[in-house]
Amino acid sequence: MEISNQPDFSKGLIPAVIQDYFTRNILMVGFMNEAAWKKTLQEERVTFYSRSRNTLWTKGETSGNFIHVKQVQLDCDADTILIQGIPVGPVCHTGALTCFEDRNTGTDLTFLEEIIRERKENPKDSSYTSDLFRRGINKIAQKVGEEAVELVIESKDDNKDLFLNEAADLMFHYLVLLQAKGYQLEDVLEVLRNRHK
Ligand code: AMP
Ligand code: ZN
Ligand code: ZN
Ligand code: ZN
Repeated sequence: MEISNQPDFSKGLIPAVIQDYFTRNILMVGFMNEAAWKKTLQEERVTFYSRSRNTLWTKGETSGNFIHVKQVQLDCDADTILIQGIPVGPVCHTGALTCFEDRNTGTDLTFLEEIIRERKENPKDSSYTSDLFRRGINKIAQKVGEEAVELVIESKDDNKDLFLNEAADLMFHYLVLLQAKGYQLEDVLEVLRNRHK
């Protein structure tokens, strides 16, 4: 992995914030020295400097729960590292998915949106999503209407499974419609944000 500028280790250890590449959740924070930083880039797995054990510590070395590095960046003055990675299992030693459990579960739909865009731009024969794009905007819009009605119907009942599945169907087809029209979720969020100005 290549990075243009280098972290500033002149004042000692610096913090490394580890974020989930897909969900954007904050996974954990640790410290790095230059050796930990180099090993992290070289092996594309997160390695910290353990202050309690005074040694390099590759996250996952005993648990197997490594964090694979996808992207790295430094903050404005290069004294903090941000790493976006893919954890292979729970990150916290307590067994929790992240070290920050409260209010740290993202609702980022970017990942789903990227898959939908991929299915639009590089259609696959067996893909339902690609098929929707082939059938066109009117068909997609109609599906959004149908899924909305199905969600309305499930709202009247107490079946959690059915309700959540229809909610997911609506959200998925809604994202497909946005893409079919050439828009992104970000365009909608922009409208919503402006309403608060
Ligand atoms: P691991 O790096 O997952 O193989 O875990 C090895 C040891 O590192 C654990 O027994 C903990 O003492 C410590 N450890 C692992 N994950 C964390 C974490 N997220 N925060 C603090 N300490 C951790
Ligand atoms: Zn800084
Ligand atoms: Zn933890
Ligand atoms: Zn449905």
